[in-house]
Parts: sequence; C-alpha cells; structure tokens
Amino acid sequence: MTYQPIIGLEVHVELKTKSKLFCGCPAEHFGTKPNTQTCPVCLGLPGALPVPNKKAVDWTILLGLALNCSIHKVSRFDRKNYFYPDLPKGYQISQYDEPLASKGFVKIDTKKIRIRRVHLEEDAGKLLHEEVNGVKSTLVDFNRSGVALVEIVTEPDVRSSEEARTFLKKMRQIARYLGISDGDMEKGTMRLEPNISVKLETRNTKHEDDLPPYKVEIKNINSFNFAKKAIDFEIARQVSLLEKGETPLQETRGWDEKKGVTVSQRGKGEAHDYRYFPEPDIPPMEFSKSQIENLRSQIPELAEEKIARFIREYNLSQYDAEILCDSRERAEYYESTIRELKNLRIKELTEKTVANWIINKKVDTSKVAPEDLVKMIAATTQTTSMPDEELEKIIKEVISKNPKAVADYQGGKEQALMFLIGQVMRETKGKRGFDKMKTVIEQRLNA
Ligand SMILES: [Zn+2]
Repeated sequence: MTYQPIIGLEVHVELKTKSKLFCGCPAEHFGTKPNTQTCPVCLGLPGALPVPNKKAVDWTILLGLALNCSIHKVSRFDRKNYFYPDLPKGYQISQYDEPLASKGFVKIDTKKIRIRRVHLEEDAGKLLHEEVNGVKSTLVDFNRSGVALVEIVTEPDVRSSEEARTFLKKMRQIARYLGISDGDMEKGTMRLEPNISVKLETRNTKHEDDLPPYKVEIKNINSFNFAKKAIDFEIARQVSLLEKGETPLQETRGWDEKKGVTVSQRGKGEAHDYRYFPEPDIPPMEFSKSQIENLRSQIPELAEEKIARFIREYNLSQYDAEILCDSRERAEYYESTIRELKNLRIKELTEKTVANWIINKKVDTSKVAPEDLVKMIAATTQTTSMPDEELEKIIKEVISKNPKAVADYQGGKEQALMFLIGQVMRETKGKRGFDKMKTVIEQRLNA
C-alpha cells in the first residue's frame, strides 16, 4: 500500500494598485500608522457606495491570461457574509459563481497544474494583539481593509510540498513579471492556504479522479519555508491516522511555527455557510473581445518563454537561463549588457562569459551599469595585441575630442572617466586590457 498526497492550493496575491479596490484610499499599508488610510467605504459605514478600481480588474484579467485561463465575458461581485472584527461590513465583497477567469493551467517543470479559477476580492483589516494600559487587548487596523486581493485556486493536482513550493514561486514570478504585485510572503502580499488529503493507493484504485472523503485546510502560512514544513507535517499526521485505520477529520488547521505542528482551528460542524448573494451596489462587469485582446497584448515575455529564448539565442544552459530570468530586472540587465558587448565588438567575450559574471560574481545589478560591466569583464579577459604607441595615440585623440568629459573629470566627476574609457575601447576594439587603458588615461588627465 502506498499513500498519495492530494493537494489543492489557494494563493492570495495583494495587488499593488495605488488605491484600494472600492475607494480612493492608498492601498500601500505596510508600516503605515494604524487607521490613517480609511474612509466611509472601507470602514463599511452605512450608505457608503463601492466603486470598482478599473486597474485592479484589468490586472486580474492580465493574471488570468498569463495563467492560460478563459476570461468570462460577464463577471460579477458577490457578498460573502460572515462576522469577524476585521471585517467592518459583516461581509466581504468577493466573487462566487462568476469569477473573472477560470480553467487555466501553469507548468511547473514538466507537469501541468490546473487552475480552477482566478477572482478578485477585497482584503480584510488586521488584528493586532497588544497590551494597552496593562490590559491585553485586541486592536483593529483598517488600513488594509479594502485592498485589492486576487485569489488563485488550483485543482487538487499537487502531490508534494516541493511541488507546492515550486508552484508558489512560479505565482510570485508571474505576478512580478506582470508588475501587479510584490508577491512578498513575509509582508503578507502573498499568502497560501493549501488543502491536503491523503489517498490510500491499493490495487483496486481504479480512478485517478477519486478523491479522499475529507480534506484539511491549513491557514496562516507566511513563508515558503513554512509552506513546505506545514504540508510535510500534515501529510505525515494524516498518514499515521490512516495507518491506524482512522479517517482524518475534515477541518481547518493553523500552522504553529514555534512547535512545528498544525493545530485544529475549526471542525466541519462549524464550517461557514457564507450565504453568497450578488453585490447589489455594483453592476455586473462586461468585457468585449477587443478589451480582452488588448489586455492580452500587454502581457510581457514571461520567464518561461524568456528562458527558452536565452538558451536558443545566447547558447546558455538551462540552469544559467533560469537564474538570469528569475526576475525580469535581472533578465533585462543581462540583455542590456549583451547589447553593450556587441557595440564594443569584443570578439573574445561571449554571451556565456557575461552570464557567468552576473551569476558567479554576484554583480550588484542596481549599482554597476551594463556598459561598465562589459568593461570590467574585458579588463580581466583580454590579451594585449596593440602596441603601446598606438594606444597612446588613440587616448590622445579621445581626450582632444571630448573636452567636456575631460573638464567634468577634472572637476571631480568620476563617471566621466568611464565615459572616456568607453570611447577608447571603441577605438581599440578590445585589443587592450581595461586596467592599462585606465592607467594611461588617468596619467594623461592628471598630468
Ligand atoms: Zn477607503
């Protein structure tokens, strides 16, 4: 007998729109003074009317498209009713049976994880447990109340904690490539709720689609590390119950990081009946084919395609291409450096050498300009194949042709030196090393 974990994931991604989902309050709430970014709408005061943020709707569709989903021509907001102190209206505006997008998939390695739905909803406030005047109290901060939140729900296609983590990293990467969220688990802008059950596989198990008669949902996971630990713990806990001939209870559990265990929070008997109904204050949203196609055209080249292109175009290994494309910024930095390399026509330097430098020497891409990186690499890899007299002559010419840069350098602007070195490099076509050139130019300028 073998045990097969069956895992479905719910990922919440907070959108980085300027304002909240249904009002004009600023959405950025991290580190702000509590309750300074609220208004009658996000405080749920009577009579206040929500107006949907168009950018949040567009971005959710963009994400749906990036996840290979169908976008619905008509979509609608619903009220999800429940009571909790961080939810001032007594209901959350969410989406129920008409989400913005559904039926997509994401590839992790060679496996497809099906996406059931992608919908848009408002975030709740935050509870703070503090001591006030010596009394243990719970305070509510509504700065997060009403911030746009996208929920991505997968089919139960995930089979291990490792796959769950890979999926989560992929979600973060896609959200960042699209520029719609920071996807930062530590700051809470990306959250995971996995539901887990374990299937006993016997010779009689015929249908792959047969799911166990229960599932356990885990809340409060706020790091990639905890996600792996919580899922592994939960699988082991359920297997040990199954081995005793018991069926695990259907329930919601929380992850206790200190003890390294999941703990029961709510049983099936207390399961919510949210009494969803259409949000009467917001008309259904309709999208034309051209609106959807227009959004599709805004999707940038995503990591998966970029990696394939880097391998093809720059002759890189899968491993190198994956590291370079991990973030869009790094991938763009690499390509700018390659363009500089081509401008300078340094034959000895290959795209692979540049990749090695960025990956192995851990170049700080926010501080070193691509053109300077090429020069740094050239300096350490080139052989001398131009006589000193010729180099001196070129430097003399460059100095006389660029009086402004010379004046800048002599006036204290160090960057002007890099400019002059670049000009010399263009003339020497990489036949002389960086250090020698720099020394000679400095000598000339300081003479
Ligand atoms: Zn507000």
